[in-house]
Amino acid sequence: MSSNLFSHIETALARDPDSVILETLDGTETRAEALLEAVDRMASLLASLGLKPGERLSAQVDKDAMNVVLYLACLKAGGVYLPLNSGYTDSEIEYFLSDAEPVIHVCTTSRQAGAEAIAARLGGLQVQTLDLDGGSLRAAFEAHTGRFGATVARAPSDLASFLYTSGTTGKPKGAMLTHNNLLSNAQMLTQAWDYSTEDTLLHALPLFHVHGLFVALNLALVNAAKVILLPKYEVEAVLQALPRTRVMMGVPTYYTRLLSEARFDRALTGHMRLFISGSAPLLVETSDQFFERTGQRILERYGMTETGMSCSNPLNGDRRAGSVGPALPGVQARIVSEDGAPSAAGEIGSLQVKGDHVFAGYWKLPEKTASEFTDDGFFVTGDLATLSDDGYVSIVGRGKDLIITGGLNVYPKEIEDVLNDMPGIKESAVIGVPHPDFGEGIVAVLVAEDTLDLDAVKAACRVAMAAFKLPRTWHIVDELPRNTMGKVQKNLLRERFG
Ligand code: ATP
Ligand code: MG
Repeated sequence: MSSNLFSHIETALARDPDSVILETLDGTETRAEALLEAVDRMASLLASLGLKPGERLSAQVDKDAMNVVLYLACLKAGGVYLPLNSGYTDSEIEYFLSDAEPVIHVCTTSRQAGAEAIAARLGGLQVQTLDLDGGSLRAAFEAHTGRFGATVARAPSDLASFLYTSGTTGKPKGAMLTHNNLLSNAQMLTQAWDYSTEDTLLHALPLFHVHGLFVALNLALVNAAKVILLPKYEVEAVLQALPRTRVMMGVPTYYTRLLSEARFDRALTGHMRLFISGSAPLLVETSDQFFERTGQRILERYGMTETGMSCSNPLNGDRRAGSVGPALPGVQARIVSEDGAPSAAGEIGSLQVKGDHVFAGYWKLPEKTASEFTDDGFFVTGDLATLSDDGYVSIVGRGKDLIITGGLNVYPKEIEDVLNDMPGIKESAVIGVPHPDFGEGIVAVLVAEDTLDLDAVKAACRVAMAAFKLPRTWHIVDELPRNTMGKVQKNLLRERFG
């Protein structure tokens, strides 16, 4: 079989043409056969619009079944799919389009004028529109009768997608992902989570990020399993769809918001096979509260745009709160200290991974790519972690968030864990800001519950931690700044409180 990821999806879908693969909120169902037909027709349309194998198609569109068709058709035609966060502004889009050089950009009609102006400046770029109920591409698709035929053959190392990182630590970087990267990830997750055609997935994640597109959607599609595609995360819709699903994937805030609903209980979740969390740290308290409420332990896993998934708690066996579990099958993961030697069990070091899932490099950034790989071919994730003596990885935080104060390393998570456990504190973020004497000073940003006694918190900190770790400045905020994937944006906090 060709290594085109879509060839694998196509084979799976063809096994049972009648099975429902996509269901949207309004109850519209798309069966495997209809999905294959739509993808074929869309691939033919994209080719007639000029998309050639190896060329990029970018999309900043609303999430619906047609978005799935567009993604799959791009793969089928041998193109490279570049999804863009629907929140990006025109000036951000201009950067991505000039950097990635797609030949076709698909956006909603509301963004057409901006996109056309960008295309006029850049040249060689065609703009098409796609809305939930209209747009030039949808109209052309409905009128199009051409057939594409055989899926374009691709080598394992050919690019399938081009995905920008979330930009949590700086400017988003274009990660070049191959067909083999995406396929190997879908296959290892199938094995690790025992995913099958029997599973129905509650899909509330965006389709422009690794979590929603490659973890959730690809996993379901290579298994020809049904997906309930919600346009976005919304508690009411999730509660409504839950009884018809077996697996849910989400970022931690999805689960904390569900837990704030009394209706979210054992009766509502008893039929569920699996709840999965990732993209940001799941607090131990959230995991425990979820377990008390539902009798189920959320399965936490870890990954990133550049690698897809690297670690996962086990499906069967000990799912540990606060850990992302062992390396997935086929993944080598190691923790290395500053001098490059392997860290001892429990010692904090840099997390590095190797395997078929690791990307082909950052687009147009060969030096950055080279500097993120070790001589023996491990990718340096940029995350700090520990490894237990039985192989469980726990993420401590990002290397970039490490605070060096008076020459000593302070890991924000260590302080945040202590703070989060204290009465009156809902959550916290600890950051380092420039300090004339210490290099960096420690700042604690707290989200308070109804009553918070800050003096008591400070006193308890003096008992719980060494003096050099004590936050010097304290701020109370209504909520922590988070991006669409629920990640705390510490760079914004550093700007605000620096
Ligand atoms: P950028 O690289 O542009 O700064 P980003 O790293 O947030 O953005 P992503 O690739 O979306 O972009 O996110 C990957 C990161 O998310 C990981 O490196 C890690 O820091 C974090 N992450 C993912 N899953 C988990 C998890 N289960 N626990 C803790 N952190 C996680
Ligand atoms: Mg990153």
